Amino acid sequence: MTTAQTFFPMEISTVRVIDRTNPQPPMVREVWKQELADAVRDPADLCDLLHLDPALAQKSKKASRDFPFLVPRGFISRMQPGDPNDPLLLQVLPRLEELDDVPGFVSDPVGEQPARRGAGLIQKYHGRCLLLVTGGCAVHCRYCFRREFPYAESGASPASFVDAVNEIRADESIHEVILSGGDPLLVDDTLLETLIDDIASISHVRRLRIHTRIPVVLPSRITEQLLHSLNTTRLAVCVVIHANHAAELDSVVADSMRRMSHVVPILLNQAVLLRGVNDNAESLIQLSEKLLDLGVTPYYLHLLDPVRGASHFDVPEETGVRLIAELRNRLPGYAVPRLAREHPGNLSKTWIA
Ligand SMILES: *Cc1c(COP(=O)(O)O)cnc(C)c1O
Ligand code: SF4
Repeated sequence: MTTAQTFFPMEISTVRVIDRTNPQPPMVREVWKQELADAVRDPADLCDLLHLDPALAQKSKKASRDFPFLVPRGFISRMQPGDPNDPLLLQVLPRLEELDDVPGFVSDPVGEQPARRGAGLIQKYHGRCLLLVTGGCAVHCRYCFRREFPYAESGASPASFVDAVNEIRADESIHEVILSGGDPLLVDDTLLETLIDDIASISHVRRLRIHTRIPVVLPSRITEQLLHSLNTTRLAVCVVIHANHAAELDSVVADSMRRMSHVVPILLNQAVLLRGVNDNAESLIQLSEKLLDLGVTPYYLHLLDPVRGASHFDVPEETGVRLIAELRNRLPGYAVPRLAREHPGNLSKTWIA
């Protein structure tokens, strides 16, 4: 038996170190769970690892008041030590600007609350719905549009899968189920397998899509058991990863993506256009090139959703349009992502360029 809490990083982090005097044989923990338990949760530790000014950590601690700091060590290893403007660091290090109240930046910028449909389901667009598998993530991205999502009351937990699956079963217009979160790959392989089997038992569902940042931030999570589940389901599977900068995609990530590409026919990436991180043509070109090396097609480049606490990442729409034009001049057509924005209430995302 499992409980909802078992799958949240907070819980995992409290697992005790093995006591060698204990006569019980220690449980073998999967590598990815160990890496998640070892993730850095204090900005001071991060600044220490990267030889950054401890004053930065002080500010970060204050800034992480409402949305805790979390980053796995593998992701940190891809950052440049000593560089406070490292594009990976900027995505995860809380800054005091997060506490600013900026007009137009709100708690639910994309209108998800009105689109909630029973326990753990969100539907905005025709034929496809999001199943919120868990509220937990393996990393906390400071620009996340769900940073204030009320997971606790949304039913985003394994306990409510049954209701969500029943809701999908009763609606024949749903052809695609998108596992989302939080990060859906944060849950256990066995639970995920059960969920995929349940969804596959619904005859009108044709496709399974997984929106996840985990292949990038915790590549060891791509286990054989997970690949087996994806390989054996009758559903057409698509995995959409989330990388914003080429430096996120090191050889360990490449290896996991290669293994995944053998069983998942469609691998896509979504990125967010972020000030200081990837708001220049060279960064975006390198990101697309690197994704293609890994067998991943760039799908969306999202303009920032105006969530409270993320205004310092905002890039003007005109800049996005200009950058996409530059990408078109430099890359094959299929390597240019769609610049998109989400308007609450619309029947699809809006393609800007
Ligand atoms: C982005 C999103 C989707 C997927 O949209 P596509 O254009 O199919 O990629 C589906 N549901 C919700 C609620 C979304 O925000
Ligand atoms: S992994 Fe995705 S859901 Fe989680 S904090 Fe980052 S952007 Fe948000």
